[in-house]
Amino acid sequence: MSKQFASRGDLAAKKTTFTKLSDNAYAYTAEGDPNSGVIIGDDGVMVIDTTATPVMAKELIAHIRAITDKPIKYVVLTHYHAVRVLGAAAYKAEGCEQIIASRGTYEMIVERGEADMKSEIERFPRLFQAVDSIPGLTWPTLVFEKEMTLFMGQLEVKIMHVGMGHTKGDTIVWLPQQKVLFSGDLVEFEAAAYTGDAQLEEWPATLEALRAMKAEKLVPGRGPALTTPERVNEGLDYTRDFVTTLLSSARTAVDKGLSLKEAFDYTRTQMDPKFGHVFIYEHCLPFDVSRAYDEANGTKHPRIWTAERDKEMWGALQSA
Ligand SMILES: [Zn+2]
Repeated sequence: MSKQFASRGDLAAKKTTFTKLSDNAYAYTAEGDPNSGVIIGDDGVMVIDTTATPVMAKELIAHIRAITDKPIKYVVLTHYHAVRVLGAAAYKAEGCEQIIASRGTYEMIVERGEADMKSEIERFPRLFQAVDSIPGLTWPTLVFEKEMTLFMGQLEVKIMHVGMGHTKGDTIVWLPQQKVLFSGDLVEFEAAAYTGDAQLEEWPATLEALRAMKAEKLVPGRGPALTTPERVNEGLDYTRDFVTTLLSSARTAVDKGLSLKEAFDYTRTQMDPKFGHVFIYEHCLPFDVSRAYDEANGTKHPRIWTAERDKEMWGALQSA
């Protein structure tokens, strides 16, 4: 293998930043590592994406505790990926009453949560600091179908599944009074979009549904908080370009009858000039092309990644 598997060699710690976006909303960003969001309502706090482990969640909790001693009543999972959800246990001691997820996310945890946990930890060990503090899978306690509204005192909080993209269960959190949007991995900025479990065909329409909300501030799944309407549009355009270039490359490859390895090399010619420099691009691309190639071949429901499948694929694609 010419390159170390996935991101096992990525050990440089990232600096986290906790930024106030509005009267109630905060962004917890990490230089391209997974972000979280925080909403401080009248009666309690909501955390959007838990961080990867309970020990890592303590750092986010410390930021919240520097501002408020209200209970952290709600945890929202934007989707099922381990790196977003496995820190959930840390919020129990902080007053957590509900772990909220969409029906699609719940189904993905049932179907592939266990495999995903093992696969993600092996791919990128740095993202799972104190991995032994994870007690097991995170199970939602409240599952919604399309959308729900929570009033945190006077503050209206909408939790919505507006469409598929990064996964079939993608969930956003929206503050209509303040026009702040927490998008999860549906939107990325200055980082690659991981699409190994994606619904690439549906993704652009979901981004346009987000655009129609006219958010003034947006916390993406990775990358800096976008704090003006222009920056929000830039993030939506960036993500749309990434996922459409990827899928159209895979469709061209399939039309030409190329093998997966050939499709990978062809996709590079389309993607590298635009995205080769962004964070975790090399990590994501083999998984991304594998999924895009499957989807272009008609596989609607993403195949499950296991630790074994990960390594087999990596060896086939990233070797010289
Ligand atoms: Zn994800």
